[in-house]
Amino acid sequence: MSQLLIEKIDAILPQTQCKKCGFAGCRPYAEAIVEGGADINQCPPGGQQGIQKIAELLDIPAKPLNTMHGYPRSYQVVAWIDENLCIGCTFCIQSCPVDAIVGAAKQMHTVIADECTGCDLCVTPCPMDCISMIPVNQKVTDWACSSIDAVKKQTANKARSRYQFRQQRIAHEKRTDLKTHTKEFIQPPQTQMSPEVRKQAIITAALKRAAAIRPQTENKPDSIKNK
Ligand code: SF4
Ligand code: SF4
Ligand code: SF4
Repeated sequence: MSQLLIEKIDAILPQTQCKKCGFAGCRPYAEAIVEGGADINQCPPGGQQGIQKIAELLDIPAKPLNTMHGYPRSYQVVAWIDENLCIGCTFCIQSCPVDAIVGAAKQMHTVIADECTGCDLCVTPCPMDCISMIPVNQKVTDWACSSIDAVKKQTANKARSRYQFRQQRIAHEKRTDLKTHTKEFIQPPQTQMSPEVRKQAIITAALKRAAAIRPQTENKPDSIKNK
């Protein structure tokens, strides 16, 4: 496998780390392209511009984005957590590829907007549906001039570093079996429950724990308090 070619493809990819290409991140997708296990048109955040750049690098014809993998967004988005609803289950932290969420078990969580790539991987695991993807001011389609390209590059480089750091941390935890903070995580029940029943069970259990330690639960909407 040509490491140099992988590096070059990875440098083109937007580093959103969203897995929409069908791989665990941008680097694994770059590896798959070089190995012949993936096509060049599977990255929605990279859009047609990204496909064109990869095609030029590989000296092959460009092709349209395969929309089976999704569509590009015309606006940048970041995740936002409604802290009044958050029960501190940590599922979102576990799913964030760039460690852009802070919080501890049974405490409310917050997104570090500057670090969020907008991958939306944290949205589905949240049992409280309290994570929203919201647009940020900068319009992606406005990113045409070279100085904005430089900003995009800088943002991608930062996301790549955070992704690599997280991968290394997880590998280290597996090797040493420390997992000190993950011991606090509340694991989803390993049963054959339907998704709705499972979700409700998680919410009920977490609310009981949260209510015991969080006097601010009285700020929650009635629909949550009455569960
Ligand atoms: S941005 Fe998402 S879809 Fe594109 S290569 Fe990276 S992980 Fe895959
Ligand atoms: S906070 Fe959510 S949307 Fe933002 S990078 Fe992490 S998982 Fe992706
Ligand atoms: S997954 Fe939702 S409820 Fe759980 S910690 Fe994250 S934001 Fe809070």
